[in-house]
Amino acid sequence: MIVAGIDIGSRASKAVVIRDNEIVSSHIGDTGPESVKSSKMAMESAIKNTGSSMEDVEYIVATGYGRVLVPFASENVSEISCHARGINWFYPDVRTILDMGGQDCKAIRCDEEGNVINFVMNDKCAGGTGRFLEMIAQTLNVELNQAGDLALESCNAIAFNTICAVFAKSEALSHLRHGVKKSDVLAGLNEAISMRCLNLLRKVNIEKEFTITGGIAKNKGMVAKISEKVGYNPVLAEDPQIIGALGAALFARDRCTGIKPQGESKIQYGYNDATGDYYITIDQSKCDGCGDCVNICPANIFEIYVKNGNQPKACISEAARNKLSQLCPGSQQCNQVQGNNCSVACKKEAIRLSW
Ligand code: SF4
Ligand code: SF4
Repeated sequence: MIVAGIDIGSRASKAVVIRDNEIVSSHIGDTGPESVKSSKMAMESAIKNTGSSMEDVEYIVATGYGRVLVPFASENVSEISCHARGINWFYPDVRTILDMGGQDCKAIRCDEEGNVINFVMNDKCAGGTGRFLEMIAQTLNVELNQAGDLALESCNAIAFNTICAVFAKSEALSHLRHGVKKSDVLAGLNEAISMRCLNLLRKVNIEKEFTITGGIAKNKGMVAKISEKVGYNPVLAEDPQIIGALGAALFARDRCTGIKPQGESKIQYGYNDATGDYYITIDQSKCDGCGDCVNICPANIFEIYVKNGNQPKACISEAARNKLSQLCPGSQQCNQVQGNNCSVACKKEAIRLSW
């Protein structure tokens, strides 16, 4: 059995392929401006290394910021669930996870099977995220992958008043102009960010069995600072950046072996633009495949599918997933034009529109 997981983050796209009980391939690439294209490239690169083809992959689960935009995924699952599930594969004892991604940080608490018990996310501020560290590295003219080692050379970390992305950049520049070493600036920022992480972790309770996932877990200076603040050394996966994609692949394997998702199975489709995120969510556990959504939608985006002889279900056609923003004007506009929309028409209350 070959299954795969794909994690479309704001900065990097990761794919993991599992054959039976073994990770046979993984790939990490840049997400770039076109996440649909990036998702295809990441998955094709990961599969190429296995000697198999896309047609051989039985089930693909997508996760991450761009999970709703992966046209070939059978299902999507939140990155919080995927990080908990993925780390459980390597370290079943882990109970506290700090996921440091490209655009946010999350503290997650999980049980012995990798189920999420609790989680908190940082606020909308970019401080302490991969994007923030990239910006600081550019400002200091340091290679991002060397920033962690450089921070470890510091003997005199500079205290930062803020890690707000805008102010921290000008503060860093001001320190440089006053002759402060780059290593001391980086160590000071790591200190401030790790304090923020500590506060996040405290909200879910920090246990000794603790890990860091995401791209920033490869930054040795940051990991050292967080360990110092938390008081425990994290166990780190060989590649902490693929943990979300691994979790997604494990959920894909579950589906192929008949293990259903816990609770409701909701599949989200959507897009994001400058004004926000837009989702059409179909709750598969409620859908009976009646087809009312297919008939009501003026944009013809729904279709009914049958998998392995099971109950028919609704989904959004692959052709429509890539251009939802052009096809679906939103529930209000749809209501005004035809006095109805898919969410209202669905008697099973299986469709939710969040605009
Ligand atoms: S109208 Fe609702 S129950 Fe019927 S197929 Fe569509 S989503 Fe499923
Ligand atoms: S809101 Fe209207 S156009 Fe959009 S998916 Fe529902 S029925 Fe189709």
